Amino acid sequence: MQSLAAYALEDSPNSSNASLKKITQKKVSSEQLAEIGITEKERNWLLAHPVIKVGVHTAYMPIEFFSEANRFRGITVDYMQKLESILGVNFQKADYETNSTTDIVDMISASTNPKLLTKNGFVSLNEPLLTLPYAIYTHNKTNNIKSWEDLNGKRVAVFRKGSMPEILAKFPNIKIVLVDIAEDAFIALQEGTADAYVGNELVVDYVSHIQGLNYIKKIGNTSNTANIYMLVRGDWPELKSILQKSFIYLEPEKKEILNKWNLQNNQKTKQLLQIALGALLLVIAFILFKSYRLKQAIKAQNKLSQERIWHQANFDFLTNLPNRMIFQNRLQEEIKKANRNKLPLGLLYLDLDNFKQINDQLGHAAGDELIKQVAHRVSTCVRSIDTTARIGGDEFTVIMGELTDINAMENASHKILNRIEEPFHINNQKIYITASIGITVYPNDSQKPEDLLMFSDQAMYEAKRLGKNRYQFFTSSMQESSINRHTITNDLRTAIANDEFVVFYQPIIDLNNDSITKAEALIRWRHPTKGLIGPLEFISIAEDTGMIGQLSDWVFEQTLRDVTRLRRTYHPDFQIRINVSPRQFMNETNLLSWLSRIKERGIPGEAITVEITEGLLLQPTDSVKHILSQFITANIEISIDDFGTGYSALGYLKKFNVDYVKLDRSFVQHVESDKDNMVLCEAIIDMAHKLRIKVVAEGIETQAQELLLKQFKCDYGQGYLFAKPTTIIEFEEFLSSLSLPLIH
Ligand code: C2E
Ligand code: CA
Ligand code: CA
Repeated sequence: MQSLAAYALEDSPNSSNASLKKITQKKVSSEQLAEIGITEKERNWLLAHPVIKVGVHTAYMPIEFFSEANRFRGITVDYMQKLESILGVNFQKADYETNSTTDIVDMISASTNPKLLTKNGFVSLNEPLLTLPYAIYTHNKTNNIKSWEDLNGKRVAVFRKGSMPEILAKFPNIKIVLVDIAEDAFIALQEGTADAYVGNELVVDYVSHIQGLNYIKKIGNTSNTANIYMLVRGDWPELKSILQKSFIYLEPEKKEILNKWNLQNNQKTKQLLQIALGALLLVIAFILFKSYRLKQAIKAQNKLSQERIWHQANFDFLTNLPNRMIFQNRLQEEIKKANRNKLPLGLLYLDLDNFKQINDQLGHAAGDELIKQVAHRVSTCVRSIDTTARIGGDEFTVIMGELTDINAMENASHKILNRIEEPFHINNQKIYITASIGITVYPNDSQKPEDLLMFSDQAMYEAKRLGKNRYQFFTSSMQESSINRHTITNDLRTAIANDEFVVFYQPIIDLNNDSITKAEALIRWRHPTKGLIGPLEFISIAEDTGMIGQLSDWVFEQTLRDVTRLRRTYHPDFQIRINVSPRQFMNETNLLSWLSRIKERGIPGEAITVEITEGLLLQPTDSVKHILSQFITANIEISIDDFGTGYSALGYLKKFNVDYVKLDRSFVQHVESDKDNMVLCEAIIDMAHKLRIKVVAEGIETQAQELLLKQFKCDYGQGYLFAKPTTIIEFEEFLSSLSLPLIH
C-alpha cells in the first residue's frame, strides 16, 4: 500500500484517488530491444512484468530525493526514466526503507553498500551505476590541509554508511568523526569539531551549493571512489541481465544526466570561460612582452603540479609505493599479459604480525617509520618487473607476473620473511617484527582479480593461524575456514557467559625421575554446534577483538581452583603453567590483578608459571618489565614458550630472570632424523643450563625422542608419548593411575 501511495504522489500529485491510476504499458519495438541485446526470453519476461516496484531514497541529493513538489527527483530518477523509455516498463517508486525486503520492492535504485541488502533478498548488478570520486573539504579558514597526506593526525568527518570509514581505518593516525548526513559534516567543520570532511564530491558540491555554504573549501579529489549500485531481487535474474545490458546501451545518456546534476560542472563552464578569457589576455601579454621565458616557466610549473596531483592520487604518501587503486589496475593488466603469454601469475599478500602492538607501544610516528622501512625491504626482495603495493595500514601486495619459474613465489616469500626478521633501527632502538604471507596463483586459484586478492588474504590468515612468520599457498578449504572465522568471531562474544570453555591439562614429566608435578593448562571450547574447538582456531581472534583478557582471566580462575586441589590431594608442590598472550601485557592492571587474586586465596606464587613468547622480551616496554618483575617478586616462574622458532638468543633471557625455556615441538620432532637439529638441541640445553635456565621439551611423541633428550640432560618433557591434554577429571585419574610413588 505504501508503495502505491508514493507512486501516486509522484506521478499525480493532485489526484485524490491514486490507486485508480491506470498503468499503461509503453510500446517498444522488438527491434529496439534486440539492439540493446535483450533476448526473446527476456522480452517475454518484460511483457509479463509491466510494473516494477523500486525503493528510492528521499534525502540523498542529488542522487535521489523527494522534492518539495512531492516528486522523486535526481540522477537515478532521470536514469530510470531513460530505462522506462527503452524497455517499456513502469517503475513504481516508493520510499526506500532500510528494512525493505523483496516482498515490498523489486529493486533498489541506489546503494553504496549493497552487501547490507543481500540478507533482504537483493543482489547488486555487476557494475556500479555510478562511480563518484571522494574529495577533501575543509573550512575556508583551515590552511594546514592541502592534500591527503595532511589528513595525518587530523579529525576527519565521513559518512557513516559509506565506504570511507573502512578506507580510513587503514590510517591509524586519522581520527574518524562519523556523520549521518552531509549537513552534519558541514556543522562539524563550522564548529571546529572536525578538521576536514571526506565526502562524495558530487553530493557535497551539490548540497553545499544549494545551501549556499560559502565557508566550505574543496581541497581536491582523493584516489578513492564511492560506488553506487542498483539492486534487484535475487529471484529475478532476468531483470538483472536486462538492466546490465541497458546500462551499456545507456552509457552516453548517463553522462548527460550526470552533467545535468553536476553543479560544479556548470560552474566550471563559467570558470573555464573566465580562464579562457584570462588566457587570451595572457597570450596578448606574452606577445606584447615577447617573454618566451615566462611562458616556458609556466608550462613547466603546470606539468610539475599535474604530475604531483597524479602521483598523490595513485601512490601511497608514506611509502611512495603504488596504492590500492594502482594495484588493482596493474593486477588487471598483468592478468591480460598472463593470458597472452600463457604464463601463470602470482599474488603475495603480506601482513605484519602484531603490528598494532608495536604501533600502540612505540607510537604512531615509529609505526609509520617501520612501515616505510618494511616497504623498502619488501621491494628489494622482488624482481624489478614485480609490482609491490601498499593496500592498507600494514598490508602489502606483490604482483609477480610472467612466472617462468613457479618456485619464484616461494623464493621471494622466503627472502621477504628473512629480510623482515632482521632488526629495524628506529629512534636509536632495535625493533623486531615478523610478517605472514598468503599466496594465490592465476589462473589456478581463480580467474577473477577480486577473488585472487580475497584468497591471498585468506591464505595470509591461515599463515597467521599456523603460527605467523611464514607463507602459505591458498587452498580451497581455506575459504571454508574463512567463513568459519566469521562465525567464531560472533559466537566468541557469548561463549564465556554461556560457560562453553573448558581447561584441559597436559602433564609435564621430570625427565630425571619420571615424576609429575607440573602441567600446562590448555583451553578448549565446547561449541554448541561445532563441537570441541582447539585454541588455534580462536585465540588469535580473541586477541584481535580484545577478548583475550577476559578469556585468560577465566582460565586463570579455573587454574587456581584446580591447582589448589591438586596441591592438597596429589602433591604439595604441584604447579600449573598458563599461557599468556603478548596482547595481555598491554593491560597492566588486568595482569597485576592476578597477583592480588592468588594472595586473597592464600595460593603461593610457586603454584603458577606463566608461559610467554620471547617476542615480548625483545622490545620490552616499561610496562612489560614492571609486570614481569612483579610476577617474579611474587615467586611466579617465567617460561619462554616455543623456544627456537624466533630469535633464540639465550643471553638476554637471563636479564629477565627467565626460569625455563620450552624447546619448540618443531625441534623435538626432528631431533632424531636431522643431525643439525640434534646438535642444536643439545647446544641449547647446555647453554641454558650454564645460565641456570631449565629446559622443557614439548611435543615428545616417541621413545627415541625421549631417550635422546634424556641423554642431552633436558630437564622436563611434555607430549603425547606421556599423555594428551585432558579434562581435570581424566587428568586426576591419570595421576592416580601412575604406579610411581608420587609424594616424596
Ligand atoms: P602451546 O603453548 O605451544 O601448547 C602446546 C600445544 O602442543 C598444545 O596445543 C598441545 O596440545 C600440543 N601438544 C602437546 N604435546 C604434543 C605432541 O606430542 N604432539 C603434538 N602434535 N602436539 C602436542 P593446543 O592445546 O592446541 O594449544 C595450541 C596453542 O594455543 C598453545 O600452544 C598456546 O599457544 C595456545 N593456548 C592454549 N591455551 C591458551 C590460553 O589459555 N591462553 C592463551 N593465550 N593461549 C593458549
Ligand atoms: Ca604453552
Ligand atoms: Ca609451545
